[in-house]
Amino acid sequence: MAKIDKLIIEGFKSFANKTVIPFYDGFNAIIGPNGSGKSNIVDALVFVLGKGSRSMRAQRMEHIIFNGGQGKKPAEYALVELYINNKDRTINIDEDIIILSRKVNRKGISYYKVNGRTETRDKIHEILSKVGIDTDGMSIIQQGDITRIIEMKPKERREVIDNAAGIKEYNEKEEKAKKELEEAEKNISEAKIILEQKKELLDKIKKEREAALKYKELEERAGFLKAQLALSRLKSVEIEKTNLTTNLEIKEKEYESLKSKIIEYDNILEKKEDELNKLEEEIIEKSTNKELRQEIENLSKRIMERQGKINVNKRELHNIDEMMQKLITINQANQPLSTKHLEGVINHEGTISEVISVDEKFRLAIEVAASSHLNDVIVNTEKDAIIAINYLKDRRLGRTRFLPLDRIKPHSKSGKAEMASKMPGVIGFASDLIQYPAKYKNAIDYVFRDTLIAEDANSAKRIRGIRVVTLSGDLFEASGAIVGGNFRSKNKLSTINTSELKELERRKQRIYEEIQKLEEEIIELN
Ligand code: ATP
Ligand code: MG
Repeated sequence: MAKIDKLIIEGFKSFANKTVIPFYDGFNAIIGPNGSGKSNIVDALVFVLGKGSRSMRAQRMEHIIFNGGQGKKPAEYALVELYINNKDRTINIDEDIIILSRKVNRKGISYYKVNGRTETRDKIHEILSKVGIDTDGMSIIQQGDITRIIEMKPKERREVIDNAAGIKEYNEKEEKAKKELEEAEKNISEAKIILEQKKELLDKIKKEREAALKYKELEERAGFLKAQLALSRLKSVEIEKTNLTTNLEIKEKEYESLKSKIIEYDNILEKKEDELNKLEEEIIEKSTNKELRQEIENLSKRIMERQGKINVNKRELHNIDEMMQKLITINQANQPLSTKHLEGVINHEGTISEVISVDEKFRLAIEVAASSHLNDVIVNTEKDAIIAINYLKDRRLGRTRFLPLDRIKPHSKSGKAEMASKMPGVIGFASDLIQYPAKYKNAIDYVFRDTLIAEDANSAKRIRGIRVVTLSGDLFEASGAIVGGNFRSKNKLSTINTSELKELERRKQRIYEEIQKLEEEIIELN
């Protein structure tokens, strides 16, 4: 516990002169008559400890300054110095004596000093609280305080006791600590929230970082792959380039050789052109020759003569054809029913029996060979055949076979038949033993096909697999069947104009040959 050594008072209340009040060990008492200034000494102590004027029973601070009296002038200021023993270093200042001083001037302004050094009032309070002197507490009990405490309400008195015991200070400290704790907790929870947010942010950043790393890795990979791709492309392009270069070289060589050939051919061409020019000159020269011209004219005349002959022959051929047609028409006296009906319906060429003529000695054999086909009607087109069929059908005029020339296919004889035709006793193919206009050839071949005409049954029976008819009308089918007996002719074939037709055929042949000869001569003359 700090001990006060002395108190020095100057210009304070009733103490006009500097007065030293010593404090001795143990209990100290000040005695004196009423109004002699005992309480003023306590006021001086309260003053130096920093209290306000009211604690010193004064209205204003300047009232505590000595105001004159007993032949003395009023003081300019009041000064109190308190000497505290600090040998045991209760106060944390390295001095044996701590001198606290307070001075107040007439303006009411206070100055505090510690060991002669000016300090704030708070610094004074700090020093005093360290040594257990509380200016608000009960360290100093002034005159009238006891009465006031006795008259106090219990709660107020309790506060005074708490104050005196120093509990108030702790309560305040506790209060303060609690507030600080609350503040700290608040700060902690805020910090937690912030921490939480930071964690979230950190997580997010972590993820972003991972994504970024992944991206970087992939990008590196992509770069690597791109480079590889580019390299492989480059390689293939280089290979291609090499190939193209080789090809180019080959082509260039080819081009060179072709060029030299072209030059060669150009030279040849030039030579030929020269020759041609020369020949043309010669021709011009020769054509001017009078004798040559005469000869050319002569030759032209001869050519024209032959051309005229050819024209005459062609006209005659036409006449012969017309004549033959007339003879055939005359032969059609015995027309079957169907063709009569078809007059005016379609343009028909006639029946098989109408268009062919035959030598009397073959007539029977040919009739048998043609058999049911003798009344087949030859028409030009398939369309004609269909019109005719519908016509016959609508009017119930019977049935007939039609042979449209635009549809019937050509027939070529089998090799086997050709061989059989050369056997002894065989006269020939039936189709070769009759006469007919050439345009009916397909229709005729269709009717007779490979049928052969033989002298007699002895000759016919030697032939196998080919249809053969004997002159007496016996029929040996290709299948082996034989048809024979007495034959009653239903479709008499005309023979009347056969020899005349044959003669006309022969004339036609002669004219053809002559035309051919004339044409050959014309070529030679040209
Ligand atoms: P009591 O025994 O009645 O308590 P006391 O010894 O305590 O008396 P104080 O109250 O200390 O007496 O002193 C009072 C005296 O101080 C009065 O005579 C008063 O005139 C004087 N006094 C107070 N203020 C001043 C001042 N500013 N200047 C001069 N004298 C003053
Ligand atoms: Mg008194």
